[in-house]
Amino acid sequence: MPGSFRIGKIAGIDIYIHVSWLIILVFLTISLASGWFPSLYQGYSTSTYLVLGFISALLLFVSVLLHELAHSFVARSRGMPVKNIVLFIFGGVSNIEQEPHSPGAEFFMAFVGPLVSLLIGALCYGLLFLVRGSHSVLEPILMYLAVTNVLLGIFNLLPGFPLDGGRVLRSIVWKITGNQFRATQVATVVGQAIAYLFILLGVWLFFFSHNPFDGIWFGFIGWFLLSAAQSARMQSTLDTTFSGVTVGQIMNTNPMTVPANISLQKLVDEYFIPQGLRSAFVLQGDQLGGLITLSDIRHVPREEWAQTPVGLAMISVDRMHTASPEQSVKDALPLMTGKDVNQLPVVKDGRLVGVLNRDTIIRAMQVRQSLGQDKGKVA
Ligand SMILES: [Zn+2]
Repeated sequence: MPGSFRIGKIAGIDIYIHVSWLIILVFLTISLASGWFPSLYQGYSTSTYLVLGFISALLLFVSVLLHELAHSFVARSRGMPVKNIVLFIFGGVSNIEQEPHSPGAEFFMAFVGPLVSLLIGALCYGLLFLVRGSHSVLEPILMYLAVTNVLLGIFNLLPGFPLDGGRVLRSIVWKITGNQFRATQVATVVGQAIAYLFILLGVWLFFFSHNPFDGIWFGFIGWFLLSAAQSARMQSTLDTTFSGVTVGQIMNTNPMTVPANISLQKLVDEYFIPQGLRSAFVLQGDQLGGLITLSDIRHVPREEWAQTPVGLAMISVDRMHTASPEQSVKDALPLMTGKDVNQLPVVKDGRLVGVLNRDTIIRAMQVRQSLGQDKGKVA
């Protein structure tokens, strides 16, 4: 995740913090010190409330980390390598490098996170019971951790992907139907429904509660869940449709090319304007040299177009992603997720043999789906 920095390593797993988490740390400290703590536990100084707020926010961070470590340890024990854990504004993410191989593995991996949160919550309630009425500074901290961990456990058990409860639901549907693809579709559709409920709740709170910030917060969580559920659903559809399909089977074998040694003026007059192009691949001899786009041309002052060869203004091939015809479509798709990458050149021995673009992929997907090529395959 961009904007993250590494804070250490636990049992061989790198732990990263995203900058958004620091914002939440400050926000939580201030809101606890100015609202919840003084109203529940009177009689401390402002600085004490701030320190208590800060410690509570840090311990919430530790709780989230324990939740993620639980996911990661179970994943690793089931043969799924864990790349790292990132803590960010909405909690944490364990980046596990493989999808689970069985519904049982998925069930345990998903369930153990909320279980740990609920256990921490229960433990804090127990400790709170011991110190209750003692006017100890532990009281507000334990109270906060008890409430947040129980809420964290319950929230994560909501049965919609990408929440843990969505993974639990997916593992159950997968076990019953024996079809991981169908199970993912069910869990992500429920996930989208839950996301819309959060957004609706956010809108309602925004207009009808005395703290409109709550509404914004719920809406924000809903939006985050919605985009995660949608992209998981799309990914699983792509994975299943293109399982076992190579780039060479679906690529467009007739990409638009221009020679590297012509001038930009000639490129514009003879290729881009007459053919309405926005980009073209550039050939140096029979080798792919790079890609030239409208914006690369615009970066060169117009009076220099006649003297500037295309090869000088293009994006060189070593700064681009390329695919090979034998590569599986599933492996090539992640190379196209960057924001400006609409087409992926397909290269064999340095020569351009085709191009993979979004239109080609969507068309191939529609054809395969309407012919029923995706049925019964498990990604
Ligand atoms: Zn979790």
